[in-house]
Amino acid sequence: METRRILILLLLLTAMIIAGSLIYSASNSKQSINEDKIGVIVSIAPQAEFVEKIGGDNVKVTVMVPPGANPHTYEPLPAQLSNVSQAELYVQVGSGIEFENVWMGKISNLNKKMAILNSSRGIEFIKSTEYDEDNEYDTHVWVSPRNAEIMVESIYQSLVQIDPANKEYYEANKNKYLQELEESDENITKALAGNENKKILVYHPAWGYFCRDYGLTQISIEKKGKEPTPQGIANVIDQAKKENIKIVFVSPQYSRKNADAIASEIGGQVIIIDDLDKNYINNLKEVSRSFKNALNT
Ligand SMILES: [Zn+2]
Repeated sequence: METRRILILLLLLTAMIIAGSLIYSASNSKQSINEDKIGVIVSIAPQAEFVEKIGGDNVKVTVMVPPGANPHTYEPLPAQLSNVSQAELYVQVGSGIEFENVWMGKISNLNKKMAILNSSRGIEFIKSTEYDEDNEYDTHVWVSPRNAEIMVESIYQSLVQIDPANKEYYEANKNKYLQELEESDENITKALAGNENKKILVYHPAWGYFCRDYGLTQISIEKKGKEPTPQGIANVIDQAKKENIKIVFVSPQYSRKNADAIASEIGGQVIIIDDLDKNYINNLKEVSRSFKNALNT
């Protein structure tokens, strides 16, 4: 009787220990999966799509310039800077965008082990239409799907360097997304065919590389990153009337005030398009549709 009771107690105790260690190891392995994700920081939202499409479940992406904020003027919050200490990779746009010019030195000092990729490496810069005579370059490299293909290739190489064990996974993801970018490029080319040399009027000149790829020209209301002067507005109104332009495109990060004034002077309307939308391919499809409509009204 006595021995049997002790035996049962021992069995119960063993079962409890086994169950406990199973629960412990389950929660522990879940935790380690989260910790295993590669922390990647990007400056702007379209880059988040690029990294997530290649890295899939293996990456955790943080965007520095949040939706609605302006990468030409944005200052990161302290909480965002603290994310930097856990990241393994920072993907810079690398085209001289002001946010990075001002903050990259400080960001890289916060985490010396973090790899930094210049994703504009290999991209041919074009001069900004915003600047008339000097040699300032257009920093909005990402709005061209052809440039995006170059950026995606570099991001893939960085991820493989950090995590070579998953090279095949990243490669398959990258090839699939490159295919989607090529299709996007072909679709936009088809959508805008027949509009070569036509002009679009934008408040902020974010679409230079897109216009280069598809044979359009952008006229910007903003000059040298500044709001237009009354004379500048008068010039744009004259030009728009001469070119029979009826649509003024604005980015959501900017005030519509001047754009609205110009639209009413030319008997046209304001349409919002966003160069910083995270859904990169879908967004470019919508933008090409808006441009096509504007060029054929
Ligand atoms: Zn911009």
